[in-house]
Amino acid sequence: MKKYLTFIILLLLFVVGCDNPKDVDHDCFLNQSEWIDKIPFTCSEEGIQITICKVCNKELDSRVITKEHEYVEKLLRERTCLIDGQSIFTCIHCGEYYYVNDYAIGHIRSDIEIIKEATDTTLGKKQVKCATCGIIYKEFGYVNNGYHKNGKLSVKGRDLVNQFGEKYQLFGLSTHGIQWFSRYVNFDTICSIQENFGNNIIRFAFYTDEAGYCSGNVSIQKSMLETLHRGIEIATELGLYVIVDWHMVGATNPLDKNPLTYLDEAKEFFSYISEYYKDQDNILYEIMNEPNGKTTWDDCKKYANEVIPCIRKNTDAIILVGNPRWTADLNSVMNSPLVGYENIMYTYHFYAADHRRTTQVENAYDAGFPVFISEFGFMNSDGDGNISTTNGENWKKVLDSRNISYVAWNISNSKGSASIFKHNSVDLVDVSDANLKTWGIYLKNWYRTKSGLNNLE
Ligand SMILES: [Zn+2]
Ligand SMILES: [Zn+2]
Ligand SMILES: [Zn+2]
Repeated sequence: MKKYLTFIILLLLFVVGCDNPKDVDHDCFLNQSEWIDKIPFTCSEEGIQITICKVCNKELDSRVITKEHEYVEKLLRERTCLIDGQSIFTCIHCGEYYYVNDYAIGHIRSDIEIIKEATDTTLGKKQVKCATCGIIYKEFGYVNNGYHKNGKLSVKGRDLVNQFGEKYQLFGLSTHGIQWFSRYVNFDTICSIQENFGNNIIRFAFYTDEAGYCSGNVSIQKSMLETLHRGIEIATELGLYVIVDWHMVGATNPLDKNPLTYLDEAKEFFSYISEYYKDQDNILYEIMNEPNGKTTWDDCKKYANEVIPCIRKNTDAIILVGNPRWTADLNSVMNSPLVGYENIMYTYHFYAADHRRTTQVENAYDAGFPVFISEFGFMNSDGDGNISTTNGENWKKVLDSRNISYVAWNISNSKGSASIFKHNSVDLVDVSDANLKTWGIYLKNWYRTKSGLNNLE
């Protein structure tokens, strides 16, 4: 009996010591459940999850949990080149939604294709397709008057000649300073000008001063070079000749009136750029835009004799050489020309309204000097005032009768009458009369007729 009593007491003690008799036969933590919702959560509010013992349902652990929205995407509209695409993202739990736009990035230009070859008597036709969607987004007539026909140029006596040795005349437009007007240096603008004017050359005004290449900071220098390269590549693709114009003029810094001020920079620049394009035959190098002030022809010669060899290391391309008095002093040139170079031309600049006399150009050419009008306008030399068509027509006659090339100032919407685009124009491509100033319209009509755009079928 005593033996049984001890057992009963022990059993009772054991039973009293346990709050759950089932603990006797299992370990709750070995039977722990997955996390389950105790207070269900929504996407915006906290909830509580617990785990329990799967045998006795005892709560073993708990945690606060927040839930993210869980979105699924549905495409509402496929993106095209010109129309934004759109998707809606909806939360599978709460239905909240938002839209995402896939912005159209426009057509991507592919190479220019010739659909119809231009001849000497007929217009050709070119097109540009979109590389993404294949549509033709530009189609335009062209005259075969540029590099693709005339090739590498050279100077024969006093004349510019093409690859066949025939007299050849360049006519075109110059940009304004590309540190200010780089927005005009793009495919659509340059193509549109060529399409509407029929020009065969473009000049890029690469300023030395006025926050330009020599006086600007590193980021200006970098972006000017990028713009210049971009312009050259576009012009080349379009079959245009290009003038790289070292545009020293000293408008704000008197030292910049003399090309010797930035001689080192010029040597470095022309070494670089002529090396870079040494395999391209459509580039002309204008080594000094408009020396002025006290600058003498001797200064210009000294400068030219340093810079020309930098280019000649790489190419025998045409080099255009400026002279004193804003490049209007051919008399000094004639008294003491440069010696020992091929393919050199002397530049002359005029603004017909206050620069009526053509005698210097006539005299120089008639005496056998190769002359190139790398910049001109028919307004005043400050780039403003009325267009003098009377003086201008006389200049045209003198130049055309001598096959002298010319490049008009300027492609921009800058203030003054010398820019072709209206001051308030925002469309860089529209070269309709509505978007052009008097000068732009005048040039366009003149050049269209000259190129054959107006006359050819
Ligand atoms: Zn349990
Ligand atoms: Zn939600
Ligand atoms: Zn497209």
